[in-house]
Amino acid sequence: MADTAIVVGGGIGGLASAVALAEAGWRTTVLERARELGEVGAGVALTPNAVAALGGLGLDGDAVAALGPRTWATGTWDWHGRPILRLPDDPGLRATTALRGVHRARLHGALLDRAGALGVEVVTDARVTTVTQGDPGGERAVVRHAGRAGTEQARQADLVVGADGVRSAVRAALYDGRGPVYSGYSSWRAVVPGLSVGPGLLQYWGPHAEFGTMPVSDGATYWYGYVRLPEGTRFDDEHSAAAERFAGWADEVRRVIDATPPAAVIRHDVLHLPGGLPRYARGRVVMVGDAAHATLPTMGQGAATALEDGVCVGRIVAAGVASGRPLGEALAAYDATRRPRCRALARASVSSGRFGSHLGPRWQGLRNALLRRVPAAAVTRGARAVMGWTPPALP
Ligand SMILES: Cc1cc2nc3c(=O)[nH]c(=O)nc-3n(C[C@H](O)[C@H](O)[C@H](O)COP(=O)(O)OP(=O)(O)OC[C@H]3O[C@@H](n4cnc5c(N)ncnc54)[C@H](O)[C@@H]3O)c2cc1C
Repeated sequence: MADTAIVVGGGIGGLASAVALAEAGWRTTVLERARELGEVGAGVALTPNAVAALGGLGLDGDAVAALGPRTWATGTWDWHGRPILRLPDDPGLRATTALRGVHRARLHGALLDRAGALGVEVVTDARVTTVTQGDPGGERAVVRHAGRAGTEQARQADLVVGADGVRSAVRAALYDGRGPVYSGYSSWRAVVPGLSVGPGLLQYWGPHAEFGTMPVSDGATYWYGYVRLPEGTRFDDEHSAAAERFAGWADEVRRVIDATPPAAVIRHDVLHLPGGLPRYARGRVVMVGDAAHATLPTMGQGAATALEDGVCVGRIVAAGVASGRPLGEALAAYDATRRPRCRALARASVSSGRFGSHLGPRWQGLRNALLRRVPAAAVTRGARAVMGWTPPALP
């Protein structure tokens, strides 16, 4: 009989894991707390490693092209609109600057279709309350979940994937005291239909803030405004609050906010896991995505690494076990592959924030003057190891 897996959470990391598990022949169920599966959020910039991960999940070049336009990171401007660092759409830089501008709902929908085609069962209104980790060589893991009608259920599985995001219930059950912390920053996001700003991802840095725009599917523009704010701040009108916060910024920034329907603006406080987890596997449970390594969004790698994790759950764990490797060994191999990379990325995201959007008013001029002297190729060189990721070979 096929091995069984339960994936907790039907976000990008959960669906990627479910696809990869099903591809390796595992009977897979996704438990999602929402009543309807969908993706909250706006746009996402898919870097080359994210595109490679999608390839590893069976989405070929045409399927990826259908997700959104090909675009690139054009560089960084100061908040007045003066260039700090320009990145031309040059073949020599594309290994690190090429992007797909994608509406998150479209990415999520493509993963869900692929999971459905592979026979993955998706159960909604199933909020996981706790997990018992089991033993890779013995007892199976147990997942308990509840629905809104008060129904409670326990399910057993050979493998549980903790993919329930930054406030993970799986992490809370298995990793004492490893909760997320507020980054000090909050992010407005929106997709504006029928608005064209430029062909690339444009980023503006100002004191304790960053604004970005990027074309996404269906001729729309995605923007984000990432700002320092006390945790839990609420505004009666988020659109007006964003317009006010970016009032003195470059014309293009104000034009994009003004063109945004107020109802399209969402905002989330950004949490992360500064110390990471000591291991990405416990018993028969493996952790992926934000549940394992929520990072600052300053390098735009959260969704990309969640996709990479999903591919690795399939290729290292599920296919490994299917080819005769003991589960405990396969989980240790997943941890050894994923943890160093994700920790390094989390640290790099903190450094990138310090030097970029988290920098205060005093150092803006010096930072900008320094960056203006650095050749584009030198800036992108460091990013190659991140963006050059490819899926591990099948056993
Ligand atoms: C402002 C901002 C901008 C970003 N921009 C980018 C970008 O450009 N590129 C990029 O790669 N990344 C970006 N990210 C990061 C990216 O959004 C996340 O890292 C990614 O979505 C994580 O996916 P996930 O599946 O791990 O978690 P989530 O997307 O949070 O999914 C978790 C799922 O689990 C469900 N769930 C939660 N608790 C339970 C429970 N108890 N039981 C059952 N289900 C549960 C949730 O409902 C949800 O469906 C950005 C993040 C922020 C904050």
